[in-house]
Amino acid sequence: MHKLLQGIHLFQRDVFGEHEEEFVRLVQGQHPEVLFITCSDSRLNPDLLMQARPGDLFVLRNAGNIVPPYGEGPGGEAATIEFALELLMVQHIVVCGHSHCGAMQALLRHEHQAALPATTRWLRLADPTRRLVHERYGHLPDDEQLNVAIQENVLLQLDTIRTHPSAARRLAEGRLNLHAWVYKFETGEVFSFDPRVEQFLPLKVAGYRPSV
Ligand SMILES: [Zn+2]
Repeated sequence: MHKLLQGIHLFQRDVFGEHEEEFVRLVQGQHPEVLFITCSDSRLNPDLLMQARPGDLFVLRNAGNIVPPYGEGPGGEAATIEFALELLMVQHIVVCGHSHCGAMQALLRHEHQAALPATTRWLRLADPTRRLVHERYGHLPDDEQLNVAIQENVLLQLDTIRTHPSAARRLAEGRLNLHAWVYKFETGEVFSFDPRVEQFLPLKVAGYRPSV
């Protein structure tokens, strides 16, 4: 904690002044183009990864980058999506999973979660991913099953986003693009789902096309 408090001090002393104009301009409002949905994992830093500035990204984070289907769950995710689309008019939603995701590990080992009742209830929302991995990829080593679960979970969440009325309407009108990404933090690589080959491929910045 001390290191982080020291960080506030350094920010106020050395950084804020340099960018004060930018921060003051943001008082007028925010106009992010992207809703970025990702895991709470401390090893994934969206601003660092995309070199984003304040105002660039509207961010939704939780354990496992999960989006409950519309009408299910407590509604924080639904409210965030609705706000991003109806008020901020974001044009892109990225769901970004990441390597070594603890939530996906817990999902695959769901029989050992007696001490984590809230986590167990939450991860039930990703149960289709667990079943798919066990049925189709149960023969693979654990680390490969985990990588498949991370990818399949991102795709599952894009399906549940489509159940949200504000997203469904914009998708039908061609005003919203959905993107499925996986960030490998130990190499800095980002993989995006390409529906033409139905695979996650290294994200190439030049000529990048909305994925799904
Ligand atoms: Zn995670």
